[in-house]
Amino acid sequence: MKDIQSVFSSIAPADSIVITMHQKPDPDAMGSSLGLFHFLKAAGFQSHVISPTNWADFLKWMPGIDVVLDYENMREKANQIVEQADWIFCLDFNNMSRTKSMEQILLNSKAKKVLIDHHREPQTAVFDYGISDISKSSTSEMIYDFIVSTDKSDLMNKESAQCIYAGVMADTGSFRFASTTASVHLMVAHLKGFQIDHAKIHTAVYENFHENRLRFIGHVLTYRMEILYEYNTALIAIPKSDTQKYHIKTGDTEGLVNYPLSIKGIEMAALLIDRDDERKWSFRSKESFDCNSFARKYFNGGGHNNASGGRSVESLEENIAQFKKVLKEFSSLQQ
Ligand code: 5GP
Ligand code: MN
Repeated sequence: MKDIQSVFSSIAPADSIVITMHQKPDPDAMGSSLGLFHFLKAAGFQSHVISPTNWADFLKWMPGIDVVLDYENMREKANQIVEQADWIFCLDFNNMSRTKSMEQILLNSKAKKVLIDHHREPQTAVFDYGISDISKSSTSEMIYDFIVSTDKSDLMNKESAQCIYAGVMADTGSFRFASTTASVHLMVAHLKGFQIDHAKIHTAVYENFHENRLRFIGHVLTYRMEILYEYNTALIAIPKSDTQKYHIKTGDTEGLVNYPLSIKGIEMAALLIDRDDERKWSFRSKESFDCNSFARKYFNGGGHNNASGGRSVESLEENIAQFKKVLKEFSSLQQ
C-alpha cells in the first residue's frame, strides 16, 4: 500500500472514479464519501458513490445523497460501474469484508484501490494506495486533510463541508471523545467559513426519528438490558419480535448502545440485535476495556478501542451465553 500523496495528481480527467464505504453506512462513511464526491466534482472529476447496502433516513438530507447507488438495489448497474473504474476510493472501513456483497467485485476489479480509514489493522495487501490512521477522529477528517493537501484545496465548497462536518460530528460523539483534537476544532472553524448551519445538521441527524423509535428505546432499556456489575458491563439483547413490533428500520438502533454507559461504574456496553441473516454486535467502552480486541477475538469483528462491532450466525440465546462466558475469560486475561 503506497502513500496517497500522489493520488490526486495521478487522476486523469477521463478516469472513471468510484467511491465506496462500509455496509449500513453511518454519518462518517456517507459524509466522507459525499465530502470527497463534491470536492472531486468541483475539481472537474465525475465520480460514482456506491453504498453496499441501504442507509438510515437521518442521512437523507446530505447534499448528493440522491445520486448514491444502493448496491443491493442496483447490482447490475453498480457492477458495470465498478468493472469500468480506474480508481476506487474505499472509505471508513479496514477490510473488504465490510462491504458485504460488494467484496468480490471490489477485489476482482483492476482499478487502483485507495484506502482512507481510521480503523485498526487495515487489510493493506488489497489496496494500492492508502492511509490508515487510528489517531484520526473520523474518515471525514481524513478526507478534509486529503482535500487540503491537494493543489485544488480552494475548490472545497459548502456541500463538501456539510458532509464532512456531519461525519466528524458523529464519530466524535459531537466533539466529545478524546479523538477531538485541536486540529479537529481548527478544521471545524474552517468548515464554518462555508456558512454551514451546524445546528441544523445536528437536528437532521439526531432529532429526526419517529415516535416508535423512542418507545422502542424505552421498551428495550426496561426489559432487555442486563447489568453485569461484577464486570462493570451492560448487555442489551434485542429479539426480532421487538424490532418487528416497533417497526424498527435501518438507523433506528444507532446510538442505543451508548445509553448504559451513562450508568455510574459501567465501563463497557454491548448491544446484540437479531437481524435476519445474522446476529449483530456493537461494543462501546469508556475506560481501558479494549472493544476492538474483544470483538476481533470472539465475535468476528473489530473497530476501535472504545467502539467496535461484530457478528455471528448463532442464535440470540447462544450469543448471550457466549458473551457471558468470554467476558469472564477476557476480564481475567486483562488483569
Ligand atoms: P457499530 O457498532 O456502530 O456497528 O460499529 C462500531 C465501530 O466498529 C465502527 O467504527 C465500525 O466501523 C466498526 N465495526 C463494526 N462492525 C465491524 C466488523 O464487523 N469488523 C470491523 N473490522 N469493524 C467493525
Ligand atoms: Mn468512521
